[in-house]
Amino acid sequence: MSSGRKKIELKSLTLAQLEKHFVAAGEKKFRASQVLNWVYNNLVTSFEEMSNIPKPLRIMLSRDYTLKTLSLKSVQTSSTTETKKYLYSTKDNHVIETVLIPDEKRNTLCISTQVGCPLDCKFCATGLMGFKRNLTVGEIVDQYFLSAKEVGKDKITNIVYMGMGEPLTNFDNTISSLEIFTDQHNNRVSRNRITISTSGIADKIIELADSPLRVKLALSLHSPFDEIRTRLMPINKRYPLAETMEAIKYYSRITATRITFEYTMLKGINDRDEDIRALTKLCRSLPSKLNVIPFNSIAHMSLKGISKELEPTSLYDINLFVQKLRDNNITVMVRDTQGDDIAAACGQLATHNLSKTD
Ligand code: SF4
Repeated sequence: MSSGRKKIELKSLTLAQLEKHFVAAGEKKFRASQVLNWVYNNLVTSFEEMSNIPKPLRIMLSRDYTLKTLSLKSVQTSSTTETKKYLYSTKDNHVIETVLIPDEKRNTLCISTQVGCPLDCKFCATGLMGFKRNLTVGEIVDQYFLSAKEVGKDKITNIVYMGMGEPLTNFDNTISSLEIFTDQHNNRVSRNRITISTSGIADKIIELADSPLRVKLALSLHSPFDEIRTRLMPINKRYPLAETMEAIKYYSRITATRITFEYTMLKGINDRDEDIRALTKLCRSLPSKLNVIPFNSIAHMSLKGISKELEPTSLYDINLFVQKLRDNNITVMVRDTQGDDIAAACGQLATHNLSKTD
């Protein structure tokens, strides 16, 4: 590679890809797993630290490859919970958000796959900020490895693809990042501790089901009725519920996993008795659980249209809603509003300082 060419992001390569690169460059294949062991298990930030890698290979690596994808700009910690929001800046000066949510049994890292989001869900701050670009594989995986460096190796037990962006519209990079996370040579995260959350990109759900990755899947449902769901989530026009549910059922069948439905509670919109009846029918049609999410304020964004009218269902009414579903034998969890004081709760992620650097 000539010095004028763009360096390859090392963290964007799976083991198989790096092996191919090394073999093509006349290097020994096993060096690839040695190099990635330094990157992912020892979290090194320079090629000089790779002490068992011969010097000529280290020189080639620093000439042709880069280890740097993101820089940590700041960390905010919630005053009410231990939730932390990491702001990372990309090399082209975009800012993305990654959230660490601790609870008694696990530490879950919520990662982003895009700068902004193209899908424009009306209750979501990320959707309201528009779409800038897809994250590279290296930028997706580095949120995990850089955050692990901050909180301590092995502390992060679960990963959810539920930060900024729709992972299945950045499909190839999402798949490669999953291959890296689940690669047995890396600081491995077991596939049943990784969840992809999607708004329902039916054809990609089927493609994911047919891959060997077998991670868990969550669907942002938010209404069991097409008309209302389309108002809240314009993507429902392209992939109506019937088509999405077919794909979800296929995913559940092929992977033998239980699907999680995400359901943000919106007063007068999706918290009525007819919603309970339709939800009961929908949840009974496959192995599933329902995650009920109190609506988090997005008043920090400038709002228009239906976004302006959205109000949270009261806690009292959420409890009634949940009890009625449980009486119908539906498994329902109620999610805490973790980190809403630092705008790190579900649907609140949006950076106000895009394109600014320190
Ligand atoms: S809810 Fe998810 S898919 Fe919808 S706009 Fe927000 S980030 Fe995008």
